Amino acid sequence: MKAFLDEVVINSKVLSVNGNVANYIPALGKANSEDLGIAVYDHEGNFYEAGNSDKKFTIQSVSKPLVFLLALIDQGEEIVFSKVGMEPTGDPFNSIIRLETFDKHKPLNPFINAGAISIVSLVKGEDNIEKIEKILSFIRLLADNENINVDNSVFLSEKVTGDRNRSMLYFLKAIGNIEGNVEEILDLYFMQCAIKATCKDLARIALVLAHGGYDPIRKKQILPKRATQIVNSLMATCGMYDESGEFAVKVGIPSKSGVGGGILSVVPKRYGIGVFGPSLDIKGNSIAGVKVLESLSDKYDLSIY
Ligand code: GLU
Repeated sequence: MKAFLDEVVINSKVLSVNGNVANYIPALGKANSEDLGIAVYDHEGNFYEAGNSDKKFTIQSVSKPLVFLLALIDQGEEIVFSKVGMEPTGDPFNSIIRLETFDKHKPLNPFINAGAISIVSLVKGEDNIEKIEKILSFIRLLADNENINVDNSVFLSEKVTGDRNRSMLYFLKAIGNIEGNVEEILDLYFMQCAIKATCKDLARIALVLAHGGYDPIRKKQILPKRATQIVNSLMATCGMYDESGEFAVKVGIPSKSGVGGGILSVVPKRYGIGVFGPSLDIKGNSIAGVKVLESLSDKYDLSIY
């Protein structure tokens, strides 16, 4: 597999020129658009990597399924799904329009920004320091890596520019979807997005999700199986923004992407995969990263469908 990954990274890298790094969060604009890396764990714990697999980046929306898992485990299905739905939107991740038109007064799913903001408001703790520590501990546990932290400059960069998210949150409060201090919830959301990790970390987390919450390397159950079924299904239907349908057809692997260029991909019972390529297509997915996954899926027959 190693030789194949090396080849795919070289072949896919050229696509980066057709995309752009996210710059609506100014600090993300500094990313090197030519970076591309992949990391893969198999069920026996073998590890393969190619390209910039060791480079740290902010996970952005890849944090959404992880914080969602935490909320699900802490509070249960009923409470979590009273706040967000389970349906794909077909709209961009930062769209506001359906917040008013969807009659149930909740965001359509936990992976659009409005849904993720609603979910992070459920995390319990005295203050944001305690809450972000809780989120970090959970992600460190999943990734089996203590060295995962928040990038303060990316956090601050989004805090000063994130008015679109700010407006969503005020709207959610107005319709009674969230309670509490709006600015504090928003800060926590920006912190979760600014968590820094590598492809290797994402692959390690995906390996646990690929085995129903059981970690085949540490040989222990880390997450309840039901929680992983829920999050994997939502990744399959809503994980790649408004490109989720096309991604299902072309790649067929439950995945979650982020505007930092990361993609976490779960091949049930087989592989945990992490990809990083900050040059994004028009929908916000890593342009070369999606190509890498498509090639891998073709070669190893990874589509779940
Ligand atoms: N922090 C980003 C935002 O809220 C995350 C978006 C993403 O990765 O999709 O705009």
